[in-house]
Amino acid sequence: MTDSLFARIDAARDDLIALTQALVRLPTLNPPGRHYREICELLQQRLAPSGFTCELIRAEGAPGDSDRYPRWNVIARREGTRPGQCVHFNSHIDVVEVGNGWTRDPFGAELDGDRIYGRGTCDMKGGLAASIIAAECFIAEYPEYVGAIEISGTADEETGGYGGVAHLAQLGYFSPDRVQHVIIPEPLNKDRICLGHRGAWWAEIETRGEIAHGSMPFLGDCAVRHMGAVMQAFEDRLFPALTTRETAMPVTPEAARQSTLNINSVHGGEPELEDFTGLPAPNVPDSCRMVIDRRFLVEEAYDEVRGEVIALLDDLKARRPRFDYAIRDINRIDPSMTAQDAPVVTTVAEAIADVLGQAPDYVASPGSYDQKHIDRIGRLQNCIAYGPGVLELAHKPDEWVGVTDMLDSAKVMGRTLEKLLLP
Ligand SMILES: [Zn+2]
Repeated sequence: MTDSLFARIDAARDDLIALTQALVRLPTLNPPGRHYREICELLQQRLAPSGFTCELIRAEGAPGDSDRYPRWNVIARREGTRPGQCVHFNSHIDVVEVGNGWTRDPFGAELDGDRIYGRGTCDMKGGLAASIIAAECFIAEYPEYVGAIEISGTADEETGGYGGVAHLAQLGYFSPDRVQHVIIPEPLNKDRICLGHRGAWWAEIETRGEIAHGSMPFLGDCAVRHMGAVMQAFEDRLFPALTTRETAMPVTPEAARQSTLNINSVHGGEPELEDFTGLPAPNVPDSCRMVIDRRFLVEEAYDEVRGEVIALLDDLKARRPRFDYAIRDINRIDPSMTAQDAPVVTTVAEAIADVLGQAPDYVASPGSYDQKHIDRIGRLQNCIAYGPGVLELAHKPDEWVGVTDMLDSAKVMGRTLEKLLLP
């Protein structure tokens, strides 16, 4: 049975290339979020002839949504002959900015040998195309399948997913009574299963002082020096503590298997004015702001992560004269980790063994992706990222996806559907 499905997928090679090219040639840049409606319509036109019912859903009021840049999503569902389990393939439709250093047309989708070049080929229109080919070939091969197949194209993954998967999850599209297995075809390499990702807490800390003439700093209170004390406390106490916290998550690269903190920015004193060429005025700065990006582990609780930094700031406030601070939360992403014995994991692992003749590697992502919303809002814990493409090429110049890798991943996805949706 399987050989016949694999042959069908191999025969769809030209179709897979053309579909990937059509997707890449729509420059769905985010920010600001261009051509979302067009790509959703393209997916609808593609999927409707195979019997999918398609809904186009705009995340009205979500961050970034406007009449100029509406946040459109498409969700397509095809029922089998009898009720059963639903397998959902979720891909984000947005791509990041092009950047410098390209030698290929970023939206030309040029085919050169086994590679298709362009922004979004790897991350992740190649994965989206592979999942569509897998589903279409499976449906053609087994029109009598049981359960349902869903394919979604969602907005804004690159900027947090609030106008995409988070919105759909809030509407109930990822609730466990509707969907039982979710595969996100992000570019994790065709022989790896990504179980989840670390969490993140972004916050802005502000230290406050008092403005005075810079020739008499003793008449004021320097907010930048207070921030220096915060950074010293981070160096002395926080960073050493973070490196001791190791996770059982198989995060790749391995150096990210611990808690980390990045100081994203520090701004203090007079603003830099682009159109001003004179000298700075002598002032003691009365405000300094620092944005921190704290990545945390599935073993850590959000309240503890936040509380640890606040305790450090409160300690400074108790010990350091005139020290005062404010803190503002910017973003919270909870970690997500699907169990290695979850059904979608074991099924895809068997499918990888069938197609590639090897056991998969299990990984977790140092950054995050849309699994967080499926887990925390949708309450569905049977979700992985699996798809073609070399992770290190994502967001780089001359990004590409391999046609053979897409075909192999499509076979893994097709084999997964055989295992889950055939009686
Ligand atoms: Zn991606």
